[in-house]
Amino acid sequence: MSSGKIDFYGKDLRVYKSCLHTHSTVSDGRFSPEEVIRMYAEKGYDVLAFTDHRRYNPVDEYDPRTMRLLSGIELHPEGPFGRAWHLLTLGVREGDVPGDTAGMTAQQVIDAAKRAGGIVFAAHPYWCGFQHEHVSSLAGISGIEVWNTSCRYIGKAYNMQIWDDLLMRGHRLGALAVDDTHRAEECFFGWTMICAPDDSESSLLSALDSGSFYSTQGPEFYRLNWKDGVLEAEFSPCTEVIIVSSSCYGHCVRRQEEPGSPVSSLRVELPRALAEPQNLKYLRIQLRDREGRYAWSMPVYLQ
Ligand SMILES: [Zn+2]
Ligand SMILES: [Zn+2]
Repeated sequence: MSSGKIDFYGKDLRVYKSCLHTHSTVSDGRFSPEEVIRMYAEKGYDVLAFTDHRRYNPVDEYDPRTMRLLSGIELHPEGPFGRAWHLLTLGVREGDVPGDTAGMTAQQVIDAAKRAGGIVFAAHPYWCGFQHEHVSSLAGISGIEVWNTSCRYIGKAYNMQIWDDLLMRGHRLGALAVDDTHRAEECFFGWTMICAPDDSESSLLSALDSGSFYSTQGPEFYRLNWKDGVLEAEFSPCTEVIIVSSSCYGHCVRRQEEPGSPVSSLRVELPRALAEPQNLKYLRIQLRDREGRYAWSMPVYLQ
């Protein structure tokens, strides 16, 4: 199944609505794996990854219904301040990396996961109390989470600032939107739209590793393009549209409080819209719809 198509920087790709951070009764989730699969399949998701704490799910034994199931795990090697990392690890199976990472450094865990063909994201760094310099000490990760629904109860669901701090320092990292599902009240608030030619595990993992996706709480992108210093996009109607870039640079296409109808496209030329393009490391598009829901494109890297 796929949730449609996207013109992704000139490539005609399919879009897969994905729940990539999910717990079940295999660890501390309230729902059995079968219940989690039913809930997300009924909501129209195309991809679901099980990422229970320290435990693998036998995804090949479950009925995937209409979805592609990915095997994953959330791993907890010791991190800064004596607190555990939450490493969202996708594309690994029982035996690839031990669920009990005692005695392993975070880097050893990441290296083992990558040797096994997996990819790793640093989950919810703000909630962990970690900053960009902690995340940037991890070599080989594919990114972080920009939104994590289960972290909103202590006000730390967003990681936009840490993401920008990392990008400004030259780290090429994507950022997922995830539910981190444990309970019913955490379901369906943020998801990742993977842009890939097909839904094989290798295509999905490769798209996630290379930033071929966008993250959203609702708004959708239909086209993204970057050519000859011109950034273009088409998307569902939004009332706030911003190009985010390094430090004090950026460009507001549309402000939330501006009167008038929502906008559904943008065309921004460098350097006309953004001064001093030589100082810019990246551009990313941040959308917000009338209900206040965000969507985040992955960065275009300028240097
Ligand atoms: Zn976690
Ligand atoms: Zn989790």
